[in-house]
Amino acid sequence: MLKFISSISRHQTLRRILLFLIVSALIGWTTGFLLPALLIAALIVIIWQYWRVNHLLMRAKANETFDKTVSLDIYRQLENQLAHRELSARQRARRLLSLLRAYRQAGSALHDGALIVQRNSSQIVWFNKAAKRFLGLSYPRSLGTNLLMHINSTRVHEWFLAGDIDEPLMDLPCPQDENIRLSLRLLPYSNEQFMVVVRDVTKLMQLEHMRRDFVANVSHELRTPLTVVHGYLDMMEPEDNPEFAPMIEEMRKQSARMAQLVEDLLTLSRLDAEDSLREEVIPMQMMLTTLRREAEALSQGHHKISIEDSAQCDIYGAHKELHSAFSNLVSNAVRYTPYGGTISIRFEQAADKSLRLSVKDSGYGIPAQHLPRITERFYRVSTSRSRESGGTGLGLSIAKHVLSLHQARLEIESEVGKGSQFTCIFSGDRARSRPR
Ligand code: ADP
Repeated sequence: MLKFISSISRHQTLRRILLFLIVSALIGWTTGFLLPALLIAALIVIIWQYWRVNHLLMRAKANETFDKTVSLDIYRQLENQLAHRELSARQRARRLLSLLRAYRQAGSALHDGALIVQRNSSQIVWFNKAAKRFLGLSYPRSLGTNLLMHINSTRVHEWFLAGDIDEPLMDLPCPQDENIRLSLRLLPYSNEQFMVVVRDVTKLMQLEHMRRDFVANVSHELRTPLTVVHGYLDMMEPEDNPEFAPMIEEMRKQSARMAQLVEDLLTLSRLDAEDSLREEVIPMQMMLTTLRREAEALSQGHHKISIEDSAQCDIYGAHKELHSAFSNLVSNAVRYTPYGGTISIRFEQAADKSLRLSVKDSGYGIPAQHLPRITERFYRVSTSRSRESGGTGLGLSIAKHVLSLHQARLEIESEVGKGSQFTCIFSGDRARSRPR
């Protein structure tokens, strides 16, 4: 009871209502109309409360600001709560706004161009100063326009539609100045939007061209002296000078290795410089026979070599380059499989229509930690084993390069001591039916 009374004393509105009802009851009782007096008083209380709630609602609807007051009245307290919420919402909005401003300032200060673009319509939602400079945008006119309209290139169209967030698009001429080379990268910004990062890669591309030219020139320059050395070595008969025989043999081996290295470097430079290759229908039965013949020549009968052809179709691609890629895989399989091992070359069409050429061996295998880097230039698991078998360290990078020019990929599975499988995977639209 005491608790109830103390709680009532804290609730001013309830106290007032009770007081009003008691006074009305007293008046009714003294005048002999207790019940009607109580009824009228209750009605007045209900209407009064309804009016106050409605008044509050109207003010809230009209977005009126509520002031903070100190009162025990329930409606004043409600107003206080609303005022409190309004204040914290305003503070939160202010905080968010200043954060947003800070982000935008950071975005504007970036040397790289940054744009927020709608994924489905490629409409520009926001861009920074650098993007404005690189792509010739203007604020606010370019907002809402199509990004692809500002960079007129089929490469960009295809890349944006593919939504490839892993690979940046390199070496793109700047729409404002052809001498500036740009790279574009897509970052997932939200479910509906991408962030496009535009970077000036002119210096990087110049260095890349210099590196390419340097390697190509050096390889080219080495070709003639090597041919001469090779020619003279061939003319020397070990039988004439038996004491020099082992030396002549070693010199021949090393000069052949150098010649192969130069050829591989020239092949890579040529592939580097190409965006696309001259393509035709490749008769795969003939290709597989050639690969088998090459493997047998290299193996000299020391391995069991088999071919399996279940695809019933040919590949549309660059004949010479694909032959060089497959041939590198086959030669690796022979070179990294001890005598008595098996090598199987299989060409098939998977259920998803993709074409797969795989070379499987029962050789040494590759430790898992080397797999991510195995296709890098000159990367070898065992340098001595590679050199002994006449390797240049460039075979897999040539294969990977050729495949990427065919929009194909190289899948590698390997287990140490059990063997490896290298699979070239081409998309189904490269399949061509075989002539009967
Ligand atoms: P290399 O001329 O040295 O063979 P590659 O680029 O063809 O150069 O291969 C790189 C390295 O990958 C090789 O040195 C070898 O260590 C490893 N490798 C390639 N193919 C195989 C294979 N079939 N089995 C085991 N190791 C392999």
